[in-house]
Amino acid sequence: MSNIVGIDLGTTFSELAILNAIGKAEIIPNADGDRLTPSAIFFDEDSPGVIRVGIEALNARHLNVQRSVRWIKRHMGDVNYRKEIDGKIWTPVELSALILKKLKQECSVEHGEIHDAVVSVPAHFDEVRRKATMDAGAGAGLNVIGIVNEPVAAALYYATTREVFGKVLVYDLGGGTFDVTILDVKGSQMEIICSQGDHALGGIDFDNKVLEMLRQSYHDKFGADLISSDEDRAKYEDEAEDIKKTLSRRPAAKKMLYGPAGSMKVEITREMFEESIGSLIARADILVEVALEEAGLEPAGINKVLLVGGSSRMPLVQQRLEKMFGFAPDKTVNVDECVALGAALHAGLTMLRDKPEAVPAGIASGLRDVTLRDVCNHSYGTICAPLDKQSGRRVIQNRIILKKNTPLPCEASQMFYTMSQGQTSLEITITQGEDADPAYINKIATHKFELPPGRPAECPIKVTYRYDVNQRMHCRFQDLQSGRALEVDFCLDHDGQSRQVGIQEKNSQLEHVTVQ
Ligand code: AMP
Repeated sequence: MSNIVGIDLGTTFSELAILNAIGKAEIIPNADGDRLTPSAIFFDEDSPGVIRVGIEALNARHLNVQRSVRWIKRHMGDVNYRKEIDGKIWTPVELSALILKKLKQECSVEHGEIHDAVVSVPAHFDEVRRKATMDAGAGAGLNVIGIVNEPVAAALYYATTREVFGKVLVYDLGGGTFDVTILDVKGSQMEIICSQGDHALGGIDFDNKVLEMLRQSYHDKFGADLISSDEDRAKYEDEAEDIKKTLSRRPAAKKMLYGPAGSMKVEITREMFEESIGSLIARADILVEVALEEAGLEPAGINKVLLVGGSSRMPLVQQRLEKMFGFAPDKTVNVDECVALGAALHAGLTMLRDKPEAVPAGIASGLRDVTLRDVCNHSYGTICAPLDKQSGRRVIQNRIILKKNTPLPCEASQMFYTMSQGQTSLEITITQGEDADPAYINKIATHKFELPPGRPAECPIKVTYRYDVNQRMHCRFQDLQSGRALEVDFCLDHDGQSRQVGIQEKNSQLEHVTVQ
C-alpha cells in the first residue's frame, strides 16, 4: 500500500512527512538522516547526467555558481526564467521536480512506495503558480492529490496536536515568502477566514540587507568592492545568512571579510540589522492589519498567534507581534516542520474524502473528527465593457465573479453579452484582484473565444468560475445560443499564456534524470 504523504516544497528547505499507522504525521529524514533537505540543485560537470540535490548541491554551489540553482520557488510560474546547462533549458517546474524527486526517492527507500502526495504552496500563490507546483509533482513521478496553503497546513497540524479554541492568526515568514492567515478553530474543526501574503518577502531579503552592510563596511575601509565574482557572492550570501541567524540568538555577530584590497573584521549588531530590515517587517505588519480588517477583527479578537517559517525566529518579529496583540506568539510547534506535517494530515483528509477504501483503519480513526473548511484566497473576475447609461459610452471594467474568502468548494456564474452585430470573437481576460479598474488587478489569462458569424449584438455568454477544495480554479465561457464553450486550465504555455483544456503538454517526467 502506498504511503499518505505531505511535502513542503520550500524556498530554502523542503521536507516530506507521512502519516503513521495511527494517523499521526511524521517527518521522514533524507538519506543523510537530515529532516530538512536544502532546496538546492547542482549540475555536476564531473559526473555527466547526475544532478545533485540537497546539502551536497548547497555546498557545491561555491565551486561553480553558474551550474547551481537556489530559491527556485521564487521563479515558479515565471515564463521568463530559464536555466541553461550544457545546452538544455531547465524551467522552474522541471527544477522543482528535481527537488521533489530527491525527496520521493530517498524517503521511499525505508518507507516503501511514495506516489500520492499533497504539496504545500504559499496561500497567496496564484493559479499559474499552483498549477506549476502540481506539474513539478507530476514531473517527479508523484500523483499530486491536492495542494494545501502553507499556513493552513501549519494550522491543521497545530490544532490537531494541541487544545486550541478561538481565532488563530498564523504568521508564516519563510525563506522567500510571507503569509498571514486567520482561522477559527474549535478543537479539530477549522474554518479559514482569510489570508494575505507577499511572494517576495522572506529570509533571502533579510540576508541581502546583511550582505549590503558587509559590502558597505568593506567599501568604507578599502574603497573597493568586497565581491568580484559570482562565487564571492555565493560565499558572502552564506556568511550573511549565518550572521542573520546568529543575531536571533546574540546581540552582535563578527566575521572576517577577505576582499581584493585586504582583509578586515566586521561586527554587525542586532540593532543595525533590525534597522536595516525595518521597512521589510513593516510590509508584513501592514499585511497583518489588512488580514485583521478583512476578518472584521481587532487585535484583541485574536486568541493565539502561531509562528511558522524559519524567519519567524527573528526576535524583531516576535516583539512586533507581542506589541500588536498584547501576548507572546506561540512557539510550541517546530516552525520548520509544521507545514510538511500539516500537508500529510491534509493528504489523509483528501484520501478519506476521495478514496476512503484506500485509507487504513488506524489512519481513518486518527483523522475521524478533523474537519477543515478553506476559502478562495483571491477574487476572480473578467474584463467587460458595459454601457454607461448616463454617458451612453462603454466603460471598461473588471467584474468580480468569484469573491475572495468564499468557502470552498464554490461556483458562481454571470451573464455577459456580445457588443456588436456580426461579432465573431471575444477577447477573454481572467482577472485576479479586488478593484473594478483593470489597471489595478492582475490579468492571469487571456484567450480568444471564437463565435459563430452573422449574429446580432447582445448574444448571451455565460461565464462560470469554480474553485475546488484542492485550491484550483476552473473557468468556463459558454455561448448559450450555439452551445460553444471554452474551458480554461491554468498552466503556462511556452508563450506565457494560460492554456485551454485539451491541449495537453507532453508530460515531462524526469525519469531519465539521475538525482543524488
Ligand atoms: P523556511 O522557508 O521556513 O525553511 O525558512 C528558511 C528561512 O529561515 C531561511 O531564510 C533561513 O535563513 C531563515 N532562518 C532559519 N533560522 C533562522 C534564525 N534563527 N533566525 C533568522 N532566520 C532564520
